[in-house]
Amino acid sequence: MKSSAAHGRARICRGCWDQRSVPIPIRGPLAVPFRTFGISRSKMNPNICTICERAFRRVKKHRHISATATILFADIRGYSNLSERIGSVQLSDIVSAFQDQCAHAIWAHDGIVNKQMGDGLMAIFNFPIKIERHAEAAVTAALTPRLGEAADPPGVGVGVHTGPVEIGEFSTVRSDFTAIGDTVNLAARLEAQAAIGEILVSTESAALAPGLTADAATRTLALKGIERPVPARVLIATG
Ligand SMILES: [Zn+2]
Repeated sequence: MKSSAAHGRARICRGCWDQRSVPIPIRGPLAVPFRTFGISRSKMNPNICTICERAFRRVKKHRHISATATILFADIRGYSNLSERIGSVQLSDIVSAFQDQCAHAIWAHDGIVNKQMGDGLMAIFNFPIKIERHAEAAVTAALTPRLGEAADPPGVGVGVHTGPVEIGEFSTVRSDFTAIGDTVNLAARLEAQAAIGEILVSTESAALAPGLTADAATRTLALKGIERPVPARVLIATG
């Protein structure tokens, strides 16, 4: 059970299989009885199930678990400007095109779309689907041509960082799992500093994805809440 494209339509949940070796059917006739018990495909990634979405038993028991993951943030640059300039119908078309294209690029590389925040999103690579080269998977997804190359829309900025995260349900009102910690914060701050069409990749992620980042320029950034300057690789989204 390895790598991307072949799993475009997995029959069993890749998260349950990778994390607990439990085969939960999500496609085909075997999936039907599961659906009647409310277990179906997740909206975070159609190759995992809604049990994964509500967090695993292992996660639940310990409330949260520690894992190593690559976190990707992406958002539409100049969104508030854009929303003043164009009508809400056109705006919602742009946002849904952005969210759809990002989701497909992320799913193609086994990541999950963990949060969608209107003009932005957060994706997790290496949980619940295990990915040997998760930094590479995230950078490759980020390089997939997207909204940034379309005619009118203002473009997208992306941040990618790899490190330890805590995964669990941190809200008592919503039963969604997410990742928190310094790794997530740094990925978000890198994204905030990315110009249109830029993918800012931390040195930690870049070291795990040398083939994709070795030729990229390095930029030293002053990030909010971090005292020392943070170097990052600057990749440009390809058209
Ligand atoms: Zn599952």
